[in-house]
Amino acid sequence: MSKEFIPPAKPIIGDAEREAVDEVLRSGMLAQGAEVTAFEQEFSQELLDGRSTVSVNSGTAGLHLGLLAAGVGLGDEVIVPSFTFAATANAVALTGATPVFADIEPDHYCLAPEHVAELITERTKGIMPVHLYGHPANMPALQRLAEQHGLALFEDAAQAHGASLDGHPVGTFGTFAMFSLYPTKNMTSGEGGMVATGDAEVDRTLRLLRSQGMERQYENEIVGFNARMTNLHAAIGRVQLSKVGEWTKTRQDNARFFDRNLHGVGVPAVADRAVHVYHQYTITVPEDRDGFATALKEEHQIGSGVYYPIPNHRLPSFARQEDLPNTEQAARTVLSLPVHPSLDDEDRERIVTAVNTLAKAGA
Ligand SMILES: *Cc1c(COP(=O)(O)O)cnc(C)c1O
Repeated sequence: MSKEFIPPAKPIIGDAEREAVDEVLRSGMLAQGAEVTAFEQEFSQELLDGRSTVSVNSGTAGLHLGLLAAGVGLGDEVIVPSFTFAATANAVALTGATPVFADIEPDHYCLAPEHVAELITERTKGIMPVHLYGHPANMPALQRLAEQHGLALFEDAAQAHGASLDGHPVGTFGTFAMFSLYPTKNMTSGEGGMVATGDAEVDRTLRLLRSQGMERQYENEIVGFNARMTNLHAAIGRVQLSKVGEWTKTRQDNARFFDRNLHGVGVPAVADRAVHVYHQYTITVPEDRDGFATALKEEHQIGSGVYYPIPNHRLPSFARQEDLPNTEQAARTVLSLPVHPSLDDEDRERIVTAVNTLAKAGA
């Protein structure tokens, strides 16, 4: 009996998205305009307690421009996790600053404040935690460190739309925070990013940087990029934003089901007073994780993902000698199972049966 493949991620695109795009096409106003402005306002109301947001054409552009707007540049250091997607450190490096790689906490895979403390130098300008897999980083400890040393906090919230800590949404802690709208993220606009900031100066600089340094046409104030979101992308994003709350609940419900029913593998921990939005549901497989993933796919037709197999400090693009034991351990053992809102009851049962069968066989 051959079963249908369960993909590790699956964007949900419906008639409402198609109609919204068609409406923009019919209007002829394709580039940044009214749809984009409406999307920014709705995103800030829905996910950020009203904190201002600036849209851009990718999450990576959001990090890059956010850092530039916050004054990060040549000679500065920004402390980032090594256990993340390369965009985090790439954005720091693209400003001319140096990403300094810190280890993670073993239970939640986010930046370890004690290790960050050891890495602070006179050149450190800021700390950029990642709310990895949709779990908020330890912001209270990082905020204390930032205050003690006069540093800025920047949030890579690419994977964490709607996550919160102590009742505060992620994206409201730092000088700025970036949310990615790439198709595999918890919501999408095709490609795109949203940058939240409570700092009026950073907000204005971001708007200048994304559009050639212009507020008024042809009166360029600073040197800038073209990183504008289009009305077409914003139209998709607005529809997705109206659904992301329900999708998050389904992700959380899927995660609870796995928590209760998986045996013989490590299941994700959630910190006290944290709301996890399960961009990924990441288990640990201590022995032969890659063989486990292959068997899931070939014997059970279940997709999975390793985020991330090579920590940033060991990528050819950075090639640093660092000793980050929790990072190395995670890179060796993590495996993300499908947790997306398209799973039905039968898919969830199949995933549990497959993981438990493989875990038992391996034990
Ligand atoms: C996806 C992602 C990014 C980059 O976002 P893009 O929209 O793909 O440019 C940055 N950081 C993390 C942690 C991500 O997962």
